Amino acid sequence: MFDLFQIGFLPVSFVDVIDIILVTVIIYKLYSTIRGTIAAQIFIGLILVLLLSFIAQAADFKALGWLLKLISDIWVIAFIILFQPEIRRLLILLGRNPILKMFIKGEEKNVADVLTDAAFELAQNQHGALIVVIKSAGIKAVVESGEIINAKVTKNLIRSIFFPRSPLHDGAVIIKNDIIEAARCTLPLYAESSFDGIQLGMRHRAGLGISEQADVISIIVSEETGGISIAEDGKLYRGLSKDKLRIKLEKTLKINKEKGWKGLFEQIRKKK
Ligand code: ATP
Ligand code: MG
Repeated sequence: MFDLFQIGFLPVSFVDVIDIILVTVIIYKLYSTIRGTIAAQIFIGLILVLLLSFIAQAADFKALGWLLKLISDIWVIAFIILFQPEIRRLLILLGRNPILKMFIKGEEKNVADVLTDAAFELAQNQHGALIVVIKSAGIKAVVESGEIINAKVTKNLIRSIFFPRSPLHDGAVIIKNDIIEAARCTLPLYAESSFDGIQLGMRHRAGLGISEQADVISIIVSEETGGISIAEDGKLYRGLSKDKLRIKLEKTLKINKEKGWKGLFEQIRKKK
């Protein structure tokens, strides 16, 4: 069918080429995912056995062929047993993959929702807060100026951190993807003491300052007024409504989300 060319007696069709490309990509992805782990050594061992048994068959080594065939006959079972944790994780992650999620509606709240709710609850209680959401590159120096947290973002965790008597309430919280990386971080200040002719306090200057120097978006909850502002690219937007904040965050966080295969393999690697 639609033969492209011929290698010796072997006709190669368009379908064969796609087939080979797919297998190559899958094996490469598998290898780069497990590279550097014990699973990789097992994987290479299995491939060696398969290769040897292939050669033994071709060269007609009967006894060696028999032995190796014995091993390669049970290798599927061996594979499942040896890679049980990896296979399990892969299947779980497949179920959580953003591509599949488009078809299966989850009830899980996303980070944009959680942050919006948290910010508005903080504002209602007039608890000041400063939350920096990283869009692309991390800001290591700033994260290291605070206390490392590395916990999943939840509304109550954010509220607890910014509770005025909490030891962590001072300074900024840094969020990447759905993880709170650190709290109590010190941010670089915006050079001017006002924006658009309105005086800025320290919290607003810090939120604005980091947005100027890094690819982030800062959410600033004012202790004095209970108002919510965001800073992005060195600009301050005041008095945001709940919907505006959520839509803005959803847009911002999408940039972060690794989609498809890359995201899936990224996640497997992260879990190690
Ligand atoms: P608010 O409207 O909440 O009063 P503000 O902009 O008027 O905010 P301040 O009243 O000066 O700001 O808020 C001080 C708080 O800002 C500090 O308690 C601290 O948590 C935070 N802050 C000050 N400087 C920095 C900084 N460099 N990095 C991070 N956070 C800072
Ligand atoms: Mg103030």
